[in-house]
Formats: sequence, structure tokens, C-alpha cells
Amino acid sequence: MDIIKIENVKFKYNKEDSRYAVDGVNINIKKGQFTAIIGHNGSGKSTLAKLINSLLVPTEGKIYVNGMDTSDDSKLWDIRQTAGMVFQNPDNQLVATIVEEDIAFGPENQGIEPAEIRKRVDAALKAVNMYDYRKRPPHLLSGGQKQRIAIAGILALNSECIVLDEPTAMLDPSGRIEVMDTLKKLNAQGKTILLITHYMDEAVQADRVIVMDKGSIKLDGTPKEVFRNLDEIKKFGLDVPQVTELAQSLIKEGINLPSDIICIKELVDLLCR
Ligand code: ADP
Ligand code: MG
Repeated sequence: MDIIKIENVKFKYNKEDSRYAVDGVNINIKKGQFTAIIGHNGSGKSTLAKLINSLLVPTEGKIYVNGMDTSDDSKLWDIRQTAGMVFQNPDNQLVATIVEEDIAFGPENQGIEPAEIRKRVDAALKAVNMYDYRKRPPHLLSGGQKQRIAIAGILALNSECIVLDEPTAMLDPSGRIEVMDTLKKLNAQGKTILLITHYMDEAVQADRVIVMDKGSIKLDGTPKEVFRNLDEIKKFGLDVPQVTELAQSLIKEGINLPSDIICIKELVDLLCR
């Protein structure tokens, strides 16, 4: 079952724009899949995320979230609940002065009863490993902790899918790892994850990598299928995983290796054989 269906979607911010920000995109995302979207600045990634979340409506084409048409106003809140969004700047998403109140905010707005909210907030805090911080003011947390609280806020809505737009861009390396580990754990428990990132080491951890350029999809496949196209990926202004680049240099030097190595352990194992 596809939780997100994007069908021939085009989007322009203004009628008079010469280019579409999203230009003929087709993507189906299966429930439980962990997808990374990468692409140079301005390639249309954030626009696509906003289209999925019904913050924007396609100029042409259709998007369905769990079968709900994102251009149907009456489905707006259901759509945003099904596919919750996490943005780049953690400071812009936390609203309350206490962590657990922040997480309770979404379910409270939905009119969920207090006992159920309490249960959901505790479960969400535990899921992102922030239960011990529930009484703290969010502004005293690290960036990685704040993003985990933002993720917990979505979990408390029982969202099936989490869409994250460069959630680690403002974090230090340890914060980035905290967020990635949280996403992988939630994915292992069945959540669908759509992660927009410019970090290749994050993209290689996904089930599927989609490369966008100038509003359209250029590559779409497993990390191995995508990253073996080094030259093409560089042409789109993107980095490639260092280990893939190293492996391909070794191949050019005559060493017999596969061209789709994406993790260091894989390369080490092959070289030590
Ligand atoms: P990315 O997230 O991949 O960097 P965006 O989706 O933000 O790309 O931008 C895609 C294109 O849409 C770019 O050309 C950008 O300049 C344009 N764009 C983005 N936001 C707006 C906006 N609010 N108004 C007009 N044009 C925009
Ligand atoms: Mg963006």
C-alpha cells in the first residue's frame, strides 16, 4: 500500500514564473519505507515536502496521502496528521515552555481526552529517548534534543509518516547522529520516513534515495543503485559518499572491487579478503 502517491505534479509559486519549482514529479512511497531525497539548493525538495503536507497545492497533477487528495480542503487536518512535518530550524517548531506540554499541544488541539494524551506524550517521549527531559524548558535543550522533541510531537498525533526537511542541517555531528538513530528506530517500528537531507552519509542509510534537480527526479533507487552513478551525481552539484569515491578510484587503479560500495565496513571487508 502506498502511503504517498505523487502523480505528474507541477508547481509554480507565481503564474508569471518561467520555471516550475516542481516540474512533473511522480513518486509512490510504500508504507514503512525510509526514503531520502537529496538535491542541490533550489532543486524543489522543500516545495515537494510542503506539497505533501498540503501547505501548498499542486498547480498540475495530484498528491494523495493515505488516499486523501491534498487539494481537498476538508482533508487538510487528516493529511497533516497522517504525514507530520519536521523543519530545519528546531527553534521555530517548539511552542510551549515545558517539553511535555509542547508534545501535548497537537493532541490537545485535536480534542483528545486528557488520559489518552498523557499516555501518548509519555510513549512519544520514550520513543525519542527524551522521557527524562519531560519537565525541562525546550530552549535549554541541544539542537538534536529539540529535533527529537519535534519528532515526539508528531508521534503523539499517531502519524503514520514523518516528513523531515533537512532536520539535521543546523545540528552538530552528535545531534545529527541522535536524530538519525531516532528515525531508524521509528522506521524499524513501522513508521514511514521521508527525509530530505544534504548529507550523503544520512542518505546511504535509507531504503531508497531520490535525487532531484531543477524540479524533477533524476535518479531513484536503492542507495547502491543511486550512488554508483558518481559522475552524474556530481553533475547535479552533490557530493558522493567518500567511500564510494575511494572505491571507484581504486577500481581505476586496477583493483577488483564492485562499483557500488557505500559503507566503509563493506570496503574494508572486501580489501581484507
Ligand atoms: P530546495 O528545498 O531543494 O532548496 P525549494 O523547494 O526551496 O528547493 O525551491 C525550489 C524553487 O522554488 C527555487 O527556484 C526557489 O527559488 C523557488 N522558491 C522557493 N520558495 C519560494 C517562494 N516562497 N516564492 C517563490 N519562489 C520560491
Ligand atoms: Mg529546502
